[in-house]
Amino acid sequence: MSGHVLIIDAMSNRRIRLRAHLDTAAYAVDLAETQTDGLLRIAQDVPDVVIVADDLPGLRLRHFCKLLRANPRTQLTTIIVAVPRENHSARVSALNAGAHDVIDDQCDPADLKARLRNFMRIRQNVEDRPTTAGRDLAHGLAEPAAAFLPKTVATFVSFGALPDMQARIAALPDGFGIDARTVPAATTRRQPDPTTDVYVLFETGHGPEARDLLGALLTHPASRHSRILFVTDSLVRTASPLDLGAHDQAPLSVTGPELAVRLQRLGRRKHDADRARKATTELGEKAYTDTLTGLNNRLAIREYLQKTDRCLADHPRQMAILMVDIDHFKAVNDNHGHAAGDVVLAQVAAVLKASLREGDFLGRFGGEEFLIVLPDVGAGQARSVAQRLRSTVAASSTAVDDGTHVRVTISIGLALASRSDRKSTQDLLRAADNALYGAKHEGRNRINIATRDDDARVAARAVNSAS
Ligand code: GH3
Ligand code: MG
Ligand code: MG
Repeated sequence: MSGHVLIIDAMSNRRIRLRAHLDTAAYAVDLAETQTDGLLRIAQDVPDVVIVADDLPGLRLRHFCKLLRANPRTQLTTIIVAVPRENHSARVSALNAGAHDVIDDQCDPADLKARLRNFMRIRQNVEDRPTTAGRDLAHGLAEPAAAFLPKTVATFVSFGALPDMQARIAALPDGFGIDARTVPAATTRRQPDPTTDVYVLFETGHGPEARDLLGALLTHPASRHSRILFVTDSLVRTASPLDLGAHDQAPLSVTGPELAVRLQRLGRRKHDADRARKATTELGEKAYTDTLTGLNNRLAIREYLQKTDRCLADHPRQMAILMVDIDHFKAVNDNHGHAAGDVVLAQVAAVLKASLREGDFLGRFGGEEFLIVLPDVGAGQARSVAQRLRSTVAASSTAVDDGTHVRVTISIGLALASRSDRKSTQDLLRAADNALYGAKHEGRNRINIATRDDDARVAARAVNSAS
């Protein structure tokens, strides 16, 4: 693994020991003895990670973290603080000052390397994000006003008679917006709770339960977006929990205040990821949605037809394509205005949508034309669907701004594919379009079915809507 680590520590024996740990993992390691020297080196060549000793003379950690965060070049640099072993208050102070993580100065090399890999992964995800606001949040660092932050729902999983989770929860200080509860492991395994932001798994024995559950939570649909804080002292077993997918790790001696900071950060990262996913989904949906009618737009239609062609090539099946066009729509615009025309158009779209089944496809093909695809449907059923659409539209009316109720009718061209004929959706579209032309020609407010293989328009068999 590549990565550039800067160690800032006045004590040469600790510098050298840390460097030895990291050298074996192929990190490029730089050393500095003072804060000033460290900042100079950071300015010259930005490291991925800075490990700074908590007892560095003159260190003002909060200021140091702020300085790095404020500079776009060092904004994503991970800051890890080495504190004396078992100094719980120093750990919490370092996290509160803005450090990404703390290690103890006797740290286990395997644990340190797993933590660095974890930060590299987080950083990679962050760098793939488009906005800097997203970057701060993803790193768990942006601190919007507490009032606007959603609570972090934390589930402490209890494994049988193992540690008293209630006591752990009681030790969490107030003011971190954490809503914690404890749930038995068996329940969580059977059905993870989709509202949980962070799972806390304590590994106290040597059994595989906690690591098994970690794997299960990471893949279950109800929990795969949750964060997992793994609490263990067992660092060098088969693999680090961080490498197994845990998002953060703490020792069993972790105190309530430290746990609270870690949970709060994980909660923020989870909420941010939720927001990013939602925004991406919404953006995707927007790109495929027609603004006026809320139906699939041309892009969605094109992709749906391409996908359908690929499926048809592998598995020929029955299918009906309907081209729907509002009759004399120009007159609606002329008589009531374009805005009223829009309202009528949206109303017809809604009526069509409400009349179709799940699995049917409906899109706005353009102007006042709609495309409908009915998969696995034969001639008889397709015709009755078309008749239903036609009569429902004809029976409905739309109130418009000028105080009148506008009624419109539709004409439908229908084309069918059977299992035996190898038609593409383009063939069907052409046939349906010709059939639609025939329906208009025959007097509108009717359905016209394209006959097979002929010039559909000439050979189409008109089905009188009234019959
Ligand atoms: P036909 O029965 O032959 O289909 O007659 P028509 O008047 O419906 O057909 P024509 O193609 O002559 O006119 C379609 C009209 O639809 C013209 C166009 O201004 C209108 N139109 C297309 N898109 C929109 C839209 O988004 N909003 C409104 N208000 N009108 C639209
Ligand atoms: Mg029309
Ligand atoms: Mg038209």
